[in-house]
Amino acid sequence: MQEAFHKERWINTHSVYQVSVIDALMQGVMEGVISVKELLRRGDFGIGTFEGLGGELIVWGDKAYNCRDDGTVVEVAPEEKVSFAQVTYFDRFAPLHRVEGIGSTEELEQKLSAWTLEDPNIIYAVKGHVDGAEVELRSIGRQHKPYPTLVEASKEQKIFRHSGVSGSVFGFLFPKFMMNVNIPFWHFHFLADDCSCGGHLLDMKADSMNLQVYPIFEHVIRLPEGKSFSRIRLCDTGEMEKAMKDVEG
Ligand SMILES: [Zn+2]
Repeated sequence: MQEAFHKERWINTHSVYQVSVIDALMQGVMEGVISVKELLRRGDFGIGTFEGLGGELIVWGDKAYNCRDDGTVVEVAPEEKVSFAQVTYFDRFAPLHRVEGIGSTEELEQKLSAWTLEDPNIIYAVKGHVDGAEVELRSIGRQHKPYPTLVEASKEQKIFRHSGVSGSVFGFLFPKFMMNVNIPFWHFHFLADDCSCGGHLLDMKADSMNLQVYPIFEHVIRLPEGKSFSRIRLCDTGEMEKAMKDVEG
């Protein structure tokens, strides 16, 4: 019984379900692929965005949140559509670590490399919690058809800075070889404990962070249907990484 439980827990928590691919989102494929309700059936921890962008998505527990470009955070209705996302069942039993003195998100990434450097060819999920942190968050507002590229859309991003915030960091790291599929460096979203703010995390300062980080070995992709996806050419140019750094870094 115990063994079956462990096996099932391991399978669910070490698998990630992804909606669309980053290369498509970059090229302006922003149609909704599945509903939030469907996404919540695939995991209880994740990040992403909506149809036409229209905010930054965070999944935690049985709820999905939209960190909107007016700076507010709202719970998302089940019928809202997701254009790009990744979710997993978060491994609450993953070992707990504590890192001290985070001066920036780059420093956080460096500290996380203690657990990711050994195997750069797999996926990682991280959930961290900070108290009294300084955060720089962004959110991109709703785009309209014909959808722009992500680089174009991100020029209208709203940036919010908060200090003295307590909240959680939700992040994924995908390996470099999956560059067309997902962002090949840490991608963090942040949600304040009281939901007073949230968004795509651009920068952060915190005295310390309690975190759980663990590897993921299984990856399922739900590809978009329809013309806007089938007409684009998914490419593997070096431009991709640069553009992604501009948008997501
Ligand atoms: Zn993001």
